[in-house]
Amino acid sequence: MLSNLKGKRLYSILNSKCPRCHEGDFHLTNNPYDLKNFGKNHEKCSECEYRFEKEPGFFYGAMYVSYGLAIAFSVAIGVAILVLFPSATYVVYIAAILLVIVGTMPLTFRLSRVIWMNLFQHFDPKALQNDQTKN
Ligand SMILES: [Zn+2]
Repeated sequence: MLSNLKGKRLYSILNSKCPRCHEGDFHLTNNPYDLKNFGKNHEKCSECEYRFEKEPGFFYGAMYVSYGLAIAFSVAIGVAILVLFPSATYVVYIAAILLVIVGTMPLTFRLSRVIWMNLFQHFDPKALQNDQTKN
């Protein structure tokens, strides 16, 4: 998906790939709605051996990203209701926003972790070359 973005952070984020080499998968499963495994991820990149969790508790910071995504979704839903249904009551706004936030929770959870990782690691085109010279 979006192979012309390879080398950009957006590629890693949208494809849940390793932030350093953009090759290895981050999540164990590609389906965010596999509720048994949606939060599980590989410990290291299968291609360049990049350690995803840089330190214990590293992914707690992803909660800030998750909060930001939830606010963005809420505002988008609020504006959509305002434009599409101008006479809607506040109950409709609250119900729609809650439905969307709860419904997209597995997606937001996964996305926020990948975004958080990408804030601290940029693409390194030599990551795979360096790894191959080690072996
Ligand atoms: Zn990698």
